[in-house]
Amino acid sequence: MPVQRLVPTQEAADLLDLTRQIARDELAPKVVAAEADEQFPREVFRTLGRAGLLGLPYGEEFGGGGQPYEVYLQVLEEIAAVWASVGVGVSVHGLSCFGLATKGTDEQKQRLLPDMLGGELLGAYCLSEPHAGSDPAAMRTTAVRDGDSYVLTGEKAWTTHGGQADFYKVMARTSDHRSRGISCFLVPADAPGLVADPPERKMGLTGSTTALMRFEGVRVDADRRLGEEGEGLPIALAGLDAGRLGIAAVAVGLAQGALEDALAYAKERETFGVPIVEHQGLAFLLADMAAGTETARAMTLHAARLKDAGLPYSQQASIAKLVATDNAMKVTTDAVQVLGGYGYTRDFPVERYMREAKVMQIFEGTNQIQRLVISRALAKGGAVTTAVAPAEFALA
Ligand SMILES: Cc1cc2nc3c(=O)[nH]c(=O)nc-3n(C[C@H](O)[C@H](O)[C@H](O)COP(=O)(O)OP(=O)(O)OC[C@H]3O[C@@H](n4cnc5c(N)ncnc54)[C@H](O)[C@@H]3O)c2cc1C
Repeated sequence: MPVQRLVPTQEAADLLDLTRQIARDELAPKVVAAEADEQFPREVFRTLGRAGLLGLPYGEEFGGGGQPYEVYLQVLEEIAAVWASVGVGVSVHGLSCFGLATKGTDEQKQRLLPDMLGGELLGAYCLSEPHAGSDPAAMRTTAVRDGDSYVLTGEKAWTTHGGQADFYKVMARTSDHRSRGISCFLVPADAPGLVADPPERKMGLTGSTTALMRFEGVRVDADRRLGEEGEGLPIALAGLDAGRLGIAAVAVGLAQGALEDALAYAKERETFGVPIVEHQGLAFLLADMAAGTETARAMTLHAARLKDAGLPYSQQASIAKLVATDNAMKVTTDAVQVLGGYGYTRDFPVERYMREAKVMQIFEGTNQIQRLVISRALAKGGAVTTAVAPAEFALA
């Protein structure tokens, strides 16, 4: 049951074909063992990078794919439908490149971006701290200027790719001002004093390493600061708007994968002499799973198209993240129900999907924080905007 897609160009359709082929040939054979053994699949990211799939929304002049966000998100969805941990990793890597692409000087971009976008270097994003998740402005990690460098001291919690990444995009305090006292740095993994704790032992996404990073007097050249001093929080939050769409796309992919597994099982499994898909009570569950997933996809792509058109999309990104991740939680739970007792065993992947869905309601801003963003935008009252989309579309 392939997803019906409308993409803007033939090039985008070809990219989606390539993604499905790599997902089938390179990702699918590895996912079960890597998730069971809690092994981070570093080589998979090199494969995706070399295929041009790691830097899709960034400019071609720096080795990116020059693709609209709506195309990038559909590629991400196809990856996540096969392997959620890798989908999350691609999204986080993209987030780690965001500040450099938007705020870096030409010299910084020339020097760093091609390897970051080409997949030779894997990125991580360090905003959260042990006591500061939903409220990042409460962060305590400091960056103190010392001649031509800064010295970073503190702890960054929950770092996806912590201990595996080649560079860390780090938000750290350069003054006491709560929101305007934070700056953004790109820290190389081999900087002396940068140490990863042992990985967190998580409920799901076990193929994705998450670790606390310790900054014990880490010296960073001043030309690795992105933007001006004090611009770190706006850079981090702008990145999160785009990153939330990435997580929304991953959640849509996860839900799609769960729906497809549940449907295949429902056509095979018989009770009372017929396949269970022929029992209306069960078929309606599948219908709701399909409706919820299509809705989440539509919302995610709507927000992406606003972004592509250069229009405000922060509120829509929060709605997409909220709708898509709540849907993924519901659909993966219902997929376990469709498989009955077998769904509750580790012999089938649906119980893993359910464990993976839960964290999507938590990271990149919990779904309570998404409601905060949406309700604040409602209270302020936004302008209604109409934009004209380009005429060319291709089926993919
Ligand atoms: C697997 C995983 C990977 C992660 N990867 C990264 C990463 O790569 N980089 C990074 O920087 N961070 C990462 N995070 C951190 C993640 O973004 C935070 O866990 C998240 O923002 C929530 O912060 P917290 O855990 O401190 O919860 P808290 O902020 O302590 O929140 C606890 C509860 O209170 C609720 N709450 C808090 N404030 C409000 C409010 N104002 N109104 C209503 N409810 C509220 C929250 O919704 C939540 O339910 C990751 C987390 C996990 C679990």
